[in-house]
Amino acid sequence: MINLTAKQICAVVNGELFASSSFQDFTVSEVITDSRTFFGGQNVAFFALTGPVFNGHNYIAQLRKKGVQLFIISDKNFIDDKANYILVKDTGLALQQLATYNRNQFSQPVIGITGSNGKTIVKEWLYDLLSAELKIVRSPKSYNSQVGVPLSALLLDAQYELALLEAGISEPGEMQKLAPIVQPNIGILSNIGDAHQENFQSKKEKLNEKLQLFVDAKKLVFCLDRPYSKPIAKFCLGNNIEPINWSFENDEATIQFKSKAAANHTKIEAKTRNKSYSFQIPFTDESALENACHCFATIVALEKIPDVFLERFSKLEPIAMRLEIKQGINNCLLINDYYNSDLNSLGIALSVLKQQAAQSHLHKHVILSDIHQTGIETAELYSKVNQLLQEWGINKLTGIGEALYKHQYIFQMESEFYSDRNEFEKHFIRSNYSSSAILLKGARQFAFEQISALLQQKAHQTVLEINLNALIHNLNSFRKLLRPETKIMVMVKAFSYGNGDVEIARLLQHQNVDYLAVAVADEGVQLRNAGITIPIVVMNPEHDSFQNIIDFNLEPNIYSTQLLHQFAKVVAEFGLCNFPIHVKIDTGMNRLGLKTEKEIDELISFVKSNKHLKIQSVFSHLAGSDDPELDDFTHEQFTRFAHLSKQIETAFDYKVDKHILNSAGIERFTDHQMDMVRLGIGLYGISQTGLQLQQISTLKTTVSQVKTVNAGETVGYNRKGKTRQQSRVAVVPMGYADGINRRLGNGLGSAFVNGQEARMIGNICMDMLMLDVTNLKVSPGDKVEIFGPDISISKLAQLLETIPYEILTGISQRVKRVYLQE
Ligand SMILES: *Cc1c(COP(=O)(O)O)cnc(C)c1O
Repeated sequence: MINLTAKQICAVVNGELFASSSFQDFTVSEVITDSRTFFGGQNVAFFALTGPVFNGHNYIAQLRKKGVQLFIISDKNFIDDKANYILVKDTGLALQQLATYNRNQFSQPVIGITGSNGKTIVKEWLYDLLSAELKIVRSPKSYNSQVGVPLSALLLDAQYELALLEAGISEPGEMQKLAPIVQPNIGILSNIGDAHQENFQSKKEKLNEKLQLFVDAKKLVFCLDRPYSKPIAKFCLGNNIEPINWSFENDEATIQFKSKAAANHTKIEAKTRNKSYSFQIPFTDESALENACHCFATIVALEKIPDVFLERFSKLEPIAMRLEIKQGINNCLLINDYYNSDLNSLGIALSVLKQQAAQSHLHKHVILSDIHQTGIETAELYSKVNQLLQEWGINKLTGIGEALYKHQYIFQMESEFYSDRNEFEKHFIRSNYSSSAILLKGARQFAFEQISALLQQKAHQTVLEINLNALIHNLNSFRKLLRPETKIMVMVKAFSYGNGDVEIARLLQHQNVDYLAVAVADEGVQLRNAGITIPIVVMNPEHDSFQNIIDFNLEPNIYSTQLLHQFAKVVAEFGLCNFPIHVKIDTGMNRLGLKTEKEIDELISFVKSNKHLKIQSVFSHLAGSDDPELDDFTHEQFTRFAHLSKQIETAFDYKVDKHILNSAGIERFTDHQMDMVRLGIGLYGISQTGLQLQQISTLKTTVSQVKTVNAGETVGYNRKGKTRQQSRVAVVPMGYADGINRRLGNGLGSAFVNGQEARMIGNICMDMLMLDVTNLKVSPGDKVEIFGPDISISKLAQLLETIPYEILTGISQRVKRVYLQE
């Protein structure tokens, strides 16, 4: 943690201080950039970061209420006498300057890690291997971005003996900014893969960018068995860096490895210049092996004696990279984090807890294991934990572990303590858990996944897993195609194309999209009730729903003269003025919309003489924007829209937004973005032009039963699934009532079981389907994927001769939606 006065910070960032003279000595020990994850605390400075879609200045008032007194800003219009400000040109740069300053105060070794894959795992494993010997500070989770790296570097202080910082990049030019903040003494280049390739010309360009992190390093750890090892060696030579390279093939390497995989572990032999070592890791996959080799080589680079650490390699654990949010019993929400347990990560997890609890008005309950943090006396450690829990307004604590049990007197909230997990489970009563957001935060060995299993709602094992990071990726991919000022309306109709509306709408609101659009008013009401405040357009406003539209501040799509008159009448009854409406023009789809010049003239004269309504936007919908054969027609639609919308635009003295592009339109006719675009299917990961999008959802379940079926027997209803040979069949608890199209049965469709493809056999039933798993390794409880990373939704749509929209929206509401976010 830093410890600097406002005046010192001002000097470091080259700013201008607007504060009372007594405030200049105010000390800052915590820096924040995200208002969502801050709920109280003193000695805090907020950096109001700005980006193309984000303006941190907008959160100043809110944060002032929460007690923040110092703001680093770049817009002087926000200066007032209600708080204290440091004015700078660029707040992002100021954050980096402060982080660099703090890094320069740190005289102990810093290990900097970059690469396409494995950064976080290598960092966490090194921590697990070394932390019994050294006091280590490390980047929380995968804080490796332009903001995450400075925030991590601000955690460095004199009490630590080693720092582990990871740095990630997605665009050229980014590493130059991160390098001075990290300034590693020892570098690790984990792996150069395809991740984040889209913004680089070539892998070589990306490699060169990554290497910029290490220009001032003394040593660099890397693998020699990769195609790119030569340029890395050259880079080391040119920059006077000692290469600590390793290899399975090359006798010249600093460290030569041999490995032998067994059923559930891998034996590794390592040969350095003067000695041989052997150890094992409890994994058998290639990437674990690679990560372990990086860790061993880093220990060599640190000039530590490897023998001390060998035993610990066999105890390395998989690293769950994400906080998992699940539906729990009795209207509880579970937030699982068995990733690590230290104060930093506890802070992050608590912020997520607070956020989730606030959104659904739930109690905040933390189930916490003993924290193994070196270098701090136990009573002091738990006093800090108590303080953290209080700051975050935690209602209840369940402490599990000897140390917590012993120090229970410290905690000042409703609490209960158990000496170990078994004790907890003995006293577990289901009905004690209701309407709470529960954070499960435990060190690995406490096996909190067992507690999670108790608390998890298990009515139906089938889930649609939605990756919110992929969704953000997709949103940003579209944003990059657009001008910065073009507004975005995201279509969240039909439960966000089947992906579940509220969580997605929340995320979109946070990502500053301009509008959401729903099909009917009820969907809009649900979003308002869930705390969505941005404008919401109702595409199909029915007469019965006008009251709701007005009460919940929704904005109707006006597609006919009749609807216009009806709606105006109700608004007038409410006595409201300038109620926003969106006018739909039919330019060739022949669905909803005003079609003729005459209708539009009538609309204009009606609205002009009616103070109750205001035309917020005018729009039209393309009939075939995804189909090159229809491009002539699409251009006719553009022309017609230009003509008819102009009529409206020129008739009013206020600005009327115009928009026509849907997802495929944005990809294929970017020039027609006008004032706004309406993004739908693309956000959910389907591209018509090969734009690099990520599929956001995985439909999955687990095998219920596996059985042997003899040759000549049949499987399922009407005996449609015949077996020619003795076969093995897996029964899967998912059927057409879940939205699996029944036509996929009888061999048309397949599923992935344990990463192996298995064809469907027999008719699909209402709640079950059967897979032919002859010759595959499958047992009950194994994971089954219907679509996801291994089976794309587009492929499934092709198989069924339909469109991805139908597949997505067809997944029934009884399938639980589970959200993942990094
Ligand atoms: C659903 C919808 C969209 C989004 O279409 P995609 O093809 O999913 O991008 C855009 N505009 C209107 C009017 C819609 O109804």
